[in-house]
Amino acid sequence: MSNAGDERLELPCGETVSLHSLDLGMRELECDCGESHAVVMDMHPPTRFFPDFLVETLEGAIESDSEEMPDFGTPHLMGIVMEEFPEQVAVADASDDGDVGFALVWITQFDSRRLHEILVELVVELMEHAISHAESERAMTEFEEQMLEFDVQEFVEQYRDERDLDPEPYV
Ligand SMILES: [Zn+2]
Repeated sequence: MSNAGDERLELPCGETVSLHSLDLGMRELECDCGESHAVVMDMHPPTRFFPDFLVETLEGAIESDSEEMPDFGTPHLMGIVMEEFPEQVAVADASDDGDVGFALVWITQFDSRRLHEILVELVVELMEHAISHAESERAMTEFEEQMLEFDVQEFVEQYRDERDLDPEPYV
């Protein structure tokens, strides 16, 4: 993994991609296998997927047990996805490679829209779990009622539209 040349990452579909071919603005990769795969880098902010207020809630709800990454961020989100879909996510550590601008990159079998939906679903589950442990039955009921009305696909659709109006911070 440490040859200083052009390191290649093997993707879940079996194709490989050169780390040097990935640029920081990439969100998706058109792969030789014919699919689009989501590309996420450690410096992409969590607001790529969630609005600020939700990121703040998550910071409070999710305890980070990592000394290297004490602050909640995109690596935690991708960690959650990898736990759930270990076979569908390829990850590369490029922190020793001075020629690329990222330290970590994740490429998933699914495209970036599907990844977004999966992340929202997993985070909703996580928050449900956190609330069920930490708070009153009433808070749980309220949360469940809110979630009954929460449409993941609609949220993702709207969020991506709004985000893409002002893509600067996300690309
Ligand atoms: Zn592929």
